[in-house]
Amino acid sequence: MLNITNLHSSIEGKQILKGIDLKVNAGEIHAIMGPNGSGKSTLASVLAGKPEYEVTEGTAFLDGKDLLDMAPEERAREGLFLAFQYPVEIPGVSNINFLKTAITEIRSHRGLPELTSKEFLKLLKDKQELVELKSSLVNRSLNEGFSGGEKKRNEILQLAMLDPKLAILDETDSGLDIDALRIVASGVNKLRTENNAFVIITHYQRLLDYIIPDFVHILYDGRIIKSGTKELAQELEEKGYDWITQHETGTV
Ligand code: ADP
Ligand code: MG
Ligand code: MG
Repeated sequence: MLNITNLHSSIEGKQILKGIDLKVNAGEIHAIMGPNGSGKSTLASVLAGKPEYEVTEGTAFLDGKDLLDMAPEERAREGLFLAFQYPVEIPGVSNINFLKTAITEIRSHRGLPELTSKEFLKLLKDKQELVELKSSLVNRSLNEGFSGGEKKRNEILQLAMLDPKLAILDETDSGLDIDALRIVASGVNKLRTENNAFVIITHYQRLLDYIIPDFVHILYDGRIIKSGTKELAQELEEKGYDWITQHETGTV
């Protein structure tokens, strides 16, 4: 589904990603962990097509299609979803209108007929129940005045509604209390199928108590320096990031 090879990226002339290789198959959940500043959000941003990040080398394909060749909105239409670390507030655009527009666009791209208002509202109701989001939120402006937990739940609602092939969640757990964390995790667990995939970027192991990844990768200084299964995340939690970085620099 996602195939990244030797990806290098820089911002303002500074090299951040220094050769990332990552393969994600349909049905898989991958966690990317790593200390602050290692390039996790940069990787997500490059995949989403944020213009300020320059790709200097390497490739990234989604279902055989060259992601790096596409405008950001094309990537979204092709089934890439990125939940940002700091979700944006869009005053004046109600959540419900945002979702309706986005769904109409994605369905049309997939050759599916437009949903009637009744069908849309039914879908919204079902998905809201899934993520336990209060209905009053969907009529408010996008993310405006949402609490941290509400924003994150709303991301999961967007995810549920848009039904992407590949979802990248960048620190969706940061700032969540334990109840919100469970809702996000159970949302992901309910939404995962054999046909989609998730890349969960997280600094802490905590979220991975609730979302069990198939693979865990450690990103450090722009490279994936270690990959493993969920035990790697537990080991990292016990020994801390110093363990891995010292290991990497040969001091252990
Ligand atoms: P992480 O998400 O792992 O904490 P980031 O990808 O946010 O790491 O950042 C990696 C490095 O890139 C950091 O050194 C950061 O300062 C730098 N960086 C990220 N975004 C920008 C930007 N817009 N301008 C300048 N430097 C940036
Ligand atoms: Mg950071
Ligand atoms: Mg980050």
